[in-house]
Amino acid sequence: MSAAESHILPVYSPPEQNFVRGEGCWIWDDKGDKYLDCIAGIAVNALGHAPPVLVKALTEQAGKLWHTSNMFKVKGQEELAAKYVRDSFADVVFFTNSGTEAIEGAMKTARKYHTANGQPERVDIIGFQGSFHGRSYAAINASGNANYLDGFGPRLPGFIQAPFGDLDAVKALVGPTTAAIIIEPVQGEGGVRAASDEYLRGLRQLADDNGFLIIFDEVQSGAGRTGKMWAHQWSGVTPDIMAVAKGVGGGFPMGAFLATKEAAKGMARGVHGTTFGGNPLAMAVGNACYDELSKPEFLDRVNVVANHLTQALEGLKDRHPDLVVGVTGKGLLRGLKLRIDPKGIQGKLRDRKVLVGVAGDNVLRLAPPLVIDEEQIRHAVDALDAVLAAQMAEASA
Ligand SMILES: *Cc1c(COP(=O)(O)O)cnc(C)c1O
Repeated sequence: MSAAESHILPVYSPPEQNFVRGEGCWIWDDKGDKYLDCIAGIAVNALGHAPPVLVKALTEQAGKLWHTSNMFKVKGQEELAAKYVRDSFADVVFFTNSGTEAIEGAMKTARKYHTANGQPERVDIIGFQGSFHGRSYAAINASGNANYLDGFGPRLPGFIQAPFGDLDAVKALVGPTTAAIIIEPVQGEGGVRAASDEYLRGLRQLADDNGFLIIFDEVQSGAGRTGKMWAHQWSGVTPDIMAVAKGVGGGFPMGAFLATKEAAKGMARGVHGTTFGGNPLAMAVGNACYDELSKPEFLDRVNVVANHLTQALEGLKDRHPDLVVGVTGKGLLRGLKLRIDPKGIQGKLRDRKVLVGVAGDNVLRLAPPLVIDEEQIRHAVDALDAVLAAQMAEASA
């Protein structure tokens, strides 16, 4: 079917394949062709496609109870929140359906904190150039890419942008109306750029010295993606509030924001809510997914394969210096920064039955299921090697 005949709002531009089945890191289209999935629904299918533990959790719950809304207790929420709190800086959790909603809740929590502290004038959220926080109004205003805002009305007051990685630039923007900083420890959409530990420590110090909060957006970088449960854990810096989604549901739509008791002190009864967030289906899958991710041997394995991937990508940089600028990102959230538009390379990889993503800044993005093995990594990197070699041959012909 051509795009003109489609009844889907044309905001996406998917390739022609119709994927109908997945298993682990492999995914099949309706012609029976098999692809290696190295993007995992953009860092979502953490345990791969149709992992038996999640299929079991979902189908068992589906036969029992789907939905009651948050006017009643959902047992799975208590269980999962207790696990998140056990393993993180946070004391309280609010469950959402998506990353954007987690971001909205996180920013509302930050502003409400200052109101509860008698400083309602503290409303400004400082975000970073190249950042992405979702597609709601607040999220596009917080995101550091003007394209997301274009045509969607006036820029909301209370959002400020800073360059990514420049502590002095942030310092210059901090003032008596600063509510919070929102930052991805590893920028996803913006080009798979990791913030340095030193930078995150500097931001934490700045927040502590000036009485504002830090929100980490770990929607893409979290859920074991970088080899720790949350990417910020590499730095030793903790936020006051964190938004998560994508990988935490392993493919079932869910997210959450987590906060310290102090940061959440304004979030009293009735000030926030959701109909679907934290529903029994999402919680059944979320609990089962987290139980897998939080096994120590699981993340050990992620680190081993991530090292393997990183070395293989560095090798590509050495072999194709005219095309590859460098390797970016962390763990299994990796960018190959190219000297050319990565979309052509992405398409040629798809022809070779390997699925990858792209990100800003000419970056080819790899975010495979965390269960990918070394042989599959080899398969992907060999395909990439062949595509880059063909590209060079074409360019010099
Ligand atoms: C994907 C993403 C979001 C938005 O999540 P949705 O589930 O698409 O609403 C927010 N922040 C980051 C860093 C993301 O990668």
